[in-house]
Amino acid sequence: MPKLKIYTFPDTVLAQKALPVQRVEKSYYQLVEDMLETMYEAPGIGLAANQVGVLERLVVIDVDYTRDEDDERAPDPDLEMKKKNPIILINPEIIYREGSTITREGCLSVPDFRSEVKRADKIKLRFQNIDGLEKELSAEGILSVCIQHELDHLEGTLFIDRLSSLKKDFAKKKLIKARRGSSR
Ligand code: ZN
Repeated sequence: MPKLKIYTFPDTVLAQKALPVQRVEKSYYQLVEDMLETMYEAPGIGLAANQVGVLERLVVIDVDYTRDEDDERAPDPDLEMKKKNPIILINPEIIYREGSTITREGCLSVPDFRSEVKRADKIKLRFQNIDGLEKELSAEGILSVCIQHELDHLEGTLFIDRLSSLKKDFAKKKLIKARRGSSR
């Protein structure tokens, strides 16, 4: 069981804008730890606070860690830890974008649906780390796409909101129908 509940479309918390973290306090350590555990467990490569019902500008990402689903052996905790490369972004802000790229995206909050989304290819980001220190980060490839996807969550935007209106309507109807089916 994942540590935290992941909210799924059409839960309204996903459509709300997250507020800036005023002061990065020790209390965020636990939230970040729980979010990471939930993300790895799901499994996913990114999780925004909105997705676990917290409307604050905080995101966790790990595009390097992929658990081998076919591996039946119990995971070696030391080895597992080495493979993990979590990035924690507090109050992230994109300060530079370059080029464009199209990637097939999915989202833990939009189960069983994937679609191609166009985003900037390279980005530069300003954020605070878990100690509240100002940092900058340049990203490209899957990390860049993942960061842009997670930052959209903080604005209350899902990747399906970025599709053409026809595709978006189709996706939303399908998701609402699937959800009704599963709650019966
Ligand atoms: Zn997402």
